[in-house]
Amino acid sequence: MADRDRIPVLVVSGFLGSGKTTLLRRLLAEAQAVGERLGVVVNDFGSLGIDRALLGAGSTRSVELAGGCVCCELSDELVVVLEELRRSARPDRIVIETSGLALPYETQLSLWRPPVSEWSSDDMAVVLVNAEQLAEDRDLGELFEQQVSAADLLILNQVDRVPESLLPALEERLHGIEPDVPIVRAVQADVDPLLLRPADARPRSAPEERAHDHALHRHYAAETLEIEPGLTESALVARLRALGAVRAKGFVATAEGPRLVQGVGRRIECTPATPPDPALLGRLVVIRAVDGERG
Ligand SMILES: [Zn+2]
Repeated sequence: MADRDRIPVLVVSGFLGSGKTTLLRRLLAEAQAVGERLGVVVNDFGSLGIDRALLGAGSTRSVELAGGCVCCELSDELVVVLEELRRSARPDRIVIETSGLALPYETQLSLWRPPVSEWSSDDMAVVLVNAEQLAEDRDLGELFEQQVSAADLLILNQVDRVPESLLPALEERLHGIEPDVPIVRAVQADVDPLLLRPADARPRSAPEERAHDHALHRHYAAETLEIEPGLTESALVARLRALGAVRAKGFVATAEGPRLVQGVGRRIECTPATPPDPALLGRLVVIRAVDGERG
């Protein structure tokens, strides 16, 4: 299957009250605005204060997996449901919202099982963290640390509910659990949609420019970098990390040979691959913060 025909999958995790539903609402609204076919798997509608009508609106197709957790008891069912969703709805993109107790990495493992592994791509785990809950250290424990350490991207949500001076310490604490994971601050799960897409994906039409709180948000942008041939893989990975790349994708002629480079959060993978078009070699699409200062 051509890489462009593969379907990117986003896994959304986080404790109850972390803002998963709010993020899902945003993704649904965005899909409608840009005319994208979204496939949604929700672990348990019952736990969501979300309107079923909204989940069936436009070209969205939703499936519920209830009565267990998608990362463990229902992992076989998840594979079946994803395949069914692909066949029946041909989505441009799939979002899996797990229950609050699920482990994102274990959920991603299902994506690497056939037949899903044959058509899924760019799976990313985003984990939402309630800043207030983190500040008060409520009900956190091993499960929280497991979720954080499996995240490709952390959204520190509800930052308006804690003093701003506290935020660096909260971020430090998260980085104490998982050092390299990118953290994005948010209110009402309002993050730049670019961050949740594969680096080289483009919505069919540009979403309307939304009013962002620029005092809070860093601005993210996709840009194409020219990478000179002959870098070692490790030098390339180090360069991408230094750039603060949150996502990256493209082909590079490394010292070890031509590589497909895929970066999702702290995961940067280089796999031997020849680009379908030689002109693509040495071009890397990178999404990163462009306005310097955090916060
Ligand atoms: Zn589970």
